[in-house]
Amino acid sequence: LTAAIYLARLNRKVLILDSRQSRASLIPRSHNHPAFPNGIEGPELLERMRAQLRKYGVEINRSIVQRIERRPLGDLVVHTEKQVYDAKNVVLATGIEDNLPPINDAQRMVRSGHIRLCPICDGFEIARRPVVVIGATERAAAEARFIRAFTDYITIATFGEAVDMSTQTIDRLSRGGINIRYEGFKDCIALKDGGVDLLLENSAPLSGVVLYSALGVRPRSALARELGVELEEDGRVKVNAHQGTAVPGFYAVGDVVTGLNQLGVSMAQGEVAAVAAHNRLRESETD
Ligand SMILES: Cc1cc2nc3c(=O)[nH]c(=O)nc-3n(C[C@H](O)[C@H](O)[C@H](O)COP(=O)(O)OP(=O)(O)OC[C@H]3O[C@@H](n4cnc5c(N)ncnc54)[C@H](O)[C@@H]3O)c2cc1C
Repeated sequence: LTAAIYLARLNRKVLILDSRQSRASLIPRSHNHPAFPNGIEGPELLERMRAQLRKYGVEINRSIVQRIERRPLGDLVVHTEKQVYDAKNVVLATGIEDNLPPINDAQRMVRSGHIRLCPICDGFEIARRPVVVIGATERAAAEARFIRAFTDYITIATFGEAVDMSTQTIDRLSRGGINIRYEGFKDCIALKDGGVDLLLENSAPLSGVVLYSALGVRPRSALARELGVELEEDGRVKVNAHQGTAVPGFYAVGDVVTGLNQLGVSMAQGEVAAVAAHNRLRESETD
């Protein structure tokens, strides 16, 4: 959306193809996004950006892009279920999908803030309450240790899985007072204050805890991979300083590119890609 705002204001013809499954639409209220002292709900932020685009007459087409290919002379061809579009440049901003825990209605619980995914975003609001981090890997351990900045009461719950962590990591967790609970999952009850009661098999519940899930993500980078663009080891798109790839005119921005998974970072990358695409078009135009 940011790239499109910039391109529209650079007098470029721009079309947005969006299947409307933004992670931003799951944000109950962001308090770290600059310029919103009282925070802003993810859906409202998206709607404000779409309103800004409508002002410039940018078409936002709700559709799923199925394939992108390159013509012999370099133009890009974008296929949706119903239509085919020719483009000089494409900015891929397809984001990532979160692996969610086996909790009933997990996505709804993310939207309501009962399952959290991003301590950079909302760790501040933990305010020293007890935290449970779901996961059994080095990622969960790293997240639990990151959360130490906000509380001293942290438990890792593996939901019945054996841990896949080095002995050094396990020692470090234990030195930091972070417990690991191995019991299977039974139930998760949402509380009014945003916390949950977490019921585990054959043991005492973890009551009134703030719940984080650290089960990893799946980058939505298949369109880039199928186009022949190089991916990083974690499956995200490899880009240069201008968000460009080895395919001329194909840019990638936001969570689908290795980075912080933050709104501001995604927006900044969208701005960089938009100006790079604009300059690329200028090069092919006569002065
Ligand atoms: C619960 C939660 C809380 C968060 N809180 C914060 C916060 O407080 N502060 C912060 O900075 N960040 C926060 N984030 C992170 C933030 O939402 C993301 O960093 C940001 O949305 C990334 O933007 P993006 O454009 O890369 O991807 P997204 O916003 O995920 O958008 C990707 C878009 O691409 C579309 N798409 C994907 N594949 C296709 C396809 N084949 N065809 C067409 N369209 C497609 C999707 O439908 C989606 O609309 C939070 C995330 C979550 C989940």
